[in-house]
Amino acid sequence: MLDCIHDVTDVTKIAERVHQALSTPFNLNGHEVFTSASIGITMSTTAFDRPEDLLRGADIAMYRAKGSGKACHEIFDTDMHTHLVNLLQLENDLRRAVERQEFLLHYQPIVALSTGKIVGFEALIRWQHPEQGLVSPIKFIPIAEETGLIAPIGQWVLREACRQMKSWQDRFPSDSPLCISVNLSSRQFSQPSLIGQIRQTLVETGLTTHSLKLEITESAIMENTESAMDMLLQLKAMGIQLSVDDFGTGYSSLGYLYRFPMDLLKVDRSFISRVDVDGEKLELVRTIITLAWNLGMDVVAEGVETTKQLAQLKALKCEYAQGYLFSKPLNRQEAEKLIAIEHPFKHLSQVLPPSGRGIDTLDSL
Ligand code: C2E
Ligand code: MG
Ligand code: MG
Repeated sequence: MLDCIHDVTDVTKIAERVHQALSTPFNLNGHEVFTSASIGITMSTTAFDRPEDLLRGADIAMYRAKGSGKACHEIFDTDMHTHLVNLLQLENDLRRAVERQEFLLHYQPIVALSTGKIVGFEALIRWQHPEQGLVSPIKFIPIAEETGLIAPIGQWVLREACRQMKSWQDRFPSDSPLCISVNLSSRQFSQPSLIGQIRQTLVETGLTTHSLKLEITESAIMENTESAMDMLLQLKAMGIQLSVDDFGTGYSSLGYLYRFPMDLLKVDRSFISRVDVDGEKLELVRTIITLAWNLGMDVVAEGVETTKQLAQLKALKCEYAQGYLFSKPLNRQEAEKLIAIEHPFKHLSQVLPPSGRGIDTLDSL
């Protein structure tokens, strides 16, 4: 907090002095250490209603400074202000959305590549915003995480997904019942009450534990390493299956894969999207699949969009896939139509793997 600031130049001079002071090395237990700082500045003349918004403004400016190469400073400006106002508006709307139950779930089929049969669905949340229409989870889940609203939202997702799957299992009985996959965010995963919540939801909806899969990203596991092991073991003991979501995008610390009791590895779309044209990607996916098998895990390829990608995945003997090639995430009625069909992806189950290791085919593309 700086008093006696008359204009922006007063404050930037001070920021420069901070940078200057930090540029000289200092001694830490006999070691010479260098550090730098990224500085975000908000002027008190900017219109803010709440002190925390002023701080958030400075925070946004600081991240802008970090983004523009670190060790510099940025002043909160009108662009950032517009961004923040939109964010605050969305946050307010999100709070009301919880009360008004503006959420719905879409379901994307997960397909067994050897048979072309649907083995389950991933539940994906959508927000039906009264003015903006359907809002993507990529936009609002981070806000829900930051504000703590993820707790009631996550609980709703879990209950609705389990309820829906139980109802489908009752309506469409099968020897191998469908599973439902539910995404857990980092903050949900850090809540000790999660286990009790899941147990209660399963009892109330009547879904068996074996029909529920939880998807957790590498980052969520790594951010909660202390509690993660205990939490995962308890879930596993209940009979719930555990998936690593978006594998390859996070820390990719292989150590945790060995230690944590995961059942399924979902290879991120960024690897799959070029598996048919990029030899390096193909080799990476091959390695990931072998690694998963060696650790006793099954593999799901995410974001499969073309028959060429599918053919490569078949050559690699990848067990499961999901993606637009099979189906986009569907609303309840559309998903039901798909479940009612005996063999909806028969044509795709007949796609053949390319000959050889796949590289020959790549070369000829
Ligand atoms: P995710 O769990 O990795 O989900 C897969 C995302 O990829 C979905 O995006 C899906 O629509 C999209 N996708 C599937 N196949 C394809 C494809 O072939 N091509 C392309 N381009 N995209 C494909 P969506 O629904 O927008 O969800 C984005 C992320 O938001 C999810 O990534 C997940 O991390 C998060 N999310 C979604 N629903 C929930 C939820 O209920 N709770 C929590 N905590 N996170 C959720
Ligand atoms: Mg997922
Ligand atoms: Mg994913």
